[in-house]
Amino acid sequence: MKKPVKNALALFFDLAAASLSTGFCAKGAVYDFEDDAEGTTENFPAPNSSPPSTPKNNNDSLEKIAKDVCACSACKLGAGRKNAVPGEGVPHPLVLVVGEGPGADEDASGRPFVGPAGQKLDEMLASIGLSRSKNCFIANIVKCRPPGNRDPESDETRLCMRFLERQIDLLQPLLILSAGRTSTANLLQTGEGITRLRGIWKSFRGIPLLPTFHPSYLLRDPNQKKFAWEDMKSLCRRLAELNPQYEAETGALRAARKI
Ligand code: SF4
Repeated sequence: MKKPVKNALALFFDLAAASLSTGFCAKGAVYDFEDDAEGTTENFPAPNSSPPSTPKNNNDSLEKIAKDVCACSACKLGAGRKNAVPGEGVPHPLVLVVGEGPGADEDASGRPFVGPAGQKLDEMLASIGLSRSKNCFIANIVKCRPPGNRDPESDETRLCMRFLERQIDLLQPLLILSAGRTSTANLLQTGEGITRLRGIWKSFRGIPLLPTFHPSYLLRDPNQKKFAWEDMKSLCRRLAELNPQYEAETGALRAARKI
């Protein structure tokens, strides 16, 4: 709400209260509210703000997508990989975590978010009753490792996004957690930095999406962990609201409120 509207409302309520109790209109106090910040953490955009770009295929499956990823050589990242990394987790997860792409550990194992950053992600998820084995799916924007851990280039993300879109069509997660600048920039098609976007609810293909810091960034700068924790609490609140069974099974919201 904008400042002039807030000020006028406050004045109106003052005058109405004085009028009702005494029959006399006292002179109202002077108010000086601030505008609400845009896109606060609990402020959802309208659903379906990102149009689907890949037609749905009713015969698709997670196994078929993984096979297609492993056979893919559509972009130059395919030539340098040891293993493609399609993603892993449960079908129909509460949360889909999207990172930018595989690093050395992921390339070696063929699994997403392993190594120190993967452990940090697992810790973050566990803090609110989530895990890839029970209620999450973990995937990346590009499925093959960019050399030297550079950012994926625009032609690579453009060619690879179809796999993530197919995964999302099948998974239909309740929420998406976008980990880091690159995944957020590609999902939201924005040039805004992750420091500005983190903690602000957005949407991708009609699914509420929360950007947060990448776990590897938290390992490099532990001072940012407090912001990541705020994001996890926001995720937890939204999950509890959308799926009461989540809170009944994990008690995560009650636990988070005590910290
Ligand atoms: S990164 Fe994606 S588009 Fe490029 S080769 Fe790997 S699977 Fe194919």
